[in-house]
Amino acid sequence: MASENNSIPKIIFVGGGAGGLELVTKLGRKLGRKGKADVTLVDNTRTHIWKPLLHEVAAGTLDSHQDEIEYLGQAKYNGFHFRLGKMDGLDRDNKTISMAATLNAEGLEIIPRRTFDYDYLIIAVGSISHDFGIAGVAEHCLFLDTTRQAEHFQRQLLEAYVRAHTQERPIDDGQLDIAIVGAGATGVELSAQLHEVSHLLSTYGLDEVKPTDVKISIIEAADRVLPGLPEKLSHATEIELAKLGVDVLTDERVIEVTADEIRTESGKVVPAAIKVWAAGIKAPTFLMELGLATNRINQIEVKQTLQSLTDDDIYAIGDCAACPWEGHEGNVPPRAQAAHQMASLAYKSITRRLAGKSIPDYHYHDHGSLVSLGKYSTVGNMMGSLSKGSLMIEGFLARMMYLSLYKMHQVALFGFFRVGMLSLSHLFRRSVHPKIKLH
Ligand SMILES: Cc1cc2nc3c(=O)[nH]c(=O)nc-3n(C[C@H](O)[C@H](O)[C@H](O)COP(=O)(O)OP(=O)(O)OC[C@H]3O[C@@H](n4cnc5c(N)ncnc54)[C@H](O)[C@@H]3O)c2cc1C
Repeated sequence: MASENNSIPKIIFVGGGAGGLELVTKLGRKLGRKGKADVTLVDNTRTHIWKPLLHEVAAGTLDSHQDEIEYLGQAKYNGFHFRLGKMDGLDRDNKTISMAATLNAEGLEIIPRRTFDYDYLIIAVGSISHDFGIAGVAEHCLFLDTTRQAEHFQRQLLEAYVRAHTQERPIDDGQLDIAIVGAGATGVELSAQLHEVSHLLSTYGLDEVKPTDVKISIIEAADRVLPGLPEKLSHATEIELAKLGVDVLTDERVIEVTADEIRTESGKVVPAAIKVWAAGIKAPTFLMELGLATNRINQIEVKQTLQSLTDDDIYAIGDCAACPWEGHEGNVPPRAQAAHQMASLAYKSITRRLAGKSIPDYHYHDHGSLVSLGKYSTVGNMMGSLSKGSLMIEGFLARMMYLSLYKMHQVALFGFFRVGMLSLSHLFRRSVHPKIKLH
């Protein structure tokens, strides 16, 4: 498909997530609006939601429809085009990407297979859960990689509650038990949200189910929760989870999942009606087939400039990029703050390149991590010169900093004024809607 103006560079973005949407918005405003480049975003969904909110969508404490951003609207107001579709191929010689045909819910083709040409390609397709080929995971576990999956989880949870509330016989042992595999930020945050929900639902009429009827377990292969974060943070989180009655099993490697239970290498069997997989990530498989250098979890290997090792005109940012983390073993971790920083660097790189200037290197700055335990607590650590290394934070300050991460993402997309208005309208909405999604 040709650009609307052949004399200006064509910049194609694949993936409008935490990193991609911030970058395409900035470049659309800077270059697209002024006719200095033809900027296009392709994504296989029509709307964006900030992925760290997905555990709240799954628990029902956030209605995804209230926080979703329509790509077509964002494109119209920020000087870029949006095209719906799933990238599945790359022709580097002809500088085109190919997109699979898009089908509707009934399986009918609504958009045919097509190609787009580019001068610069930015791949920001994120990551998905990695089941490591463990038996039964794909069949029996729920995942939280997309809004649809999170909504599916929320419906299953609600249906399980309604069934238990209306059945004539007493609630069976384990009928509402939930097991989460993986005690990273997603698993831990989800467990706290689910605990909150188990108390809230009974206040909205589903009172035949007592909060004690719901047992929440987390199973983790490492020897502590939040294994990627400082030990002090893990310890503080374990104390909070114990207060909530969440059963934490560490040093337990899952070897099989069946319809009713999860089995571990040491012989433990955890019965669970609802099973969630939140252990490990990999980049989408199609990246392996593009002819670009990739690593064992399909991430595109990039230079410190975020350009692919194989092709200088192709950048990868966010979770799908394998970027060496200077001074550390391994790569920059797959986190929203890394995607945000990569988006800022790629913005500088592309605008400087178009102006014929040298391009900068990416240096990941770990500002710390925050883990929200719902309304109960927020724990985190701050990194940097002010905190002289790593400083533990907890409670109100940590909560405010946690909330500010999402606000920063919104500010990058809408600017300060509109985010202020949005926050106000959110407050008003909360005063008339239930605290939890009930449909
Ligand atoms: C439940 C959950 C909680 C999390 N909590 C935190 C947290 O508290 N803090 C933190 O730092 N990080 C957190 N993360 C991780 C964080 O969300 C990711 O690091 C971040 O979203 C990565 O951004 P990204 O731009 O690389 O990709 P994403 O935000 O994942 O976006 C990828 C985009 O690419 C699109 N796409 C994928 N494949 C294709 C294709 N073939 N063609 C076209 N489009 C495609 C997708 O539709 C999506 O819009 C969490 C993740 C999850 C799932």
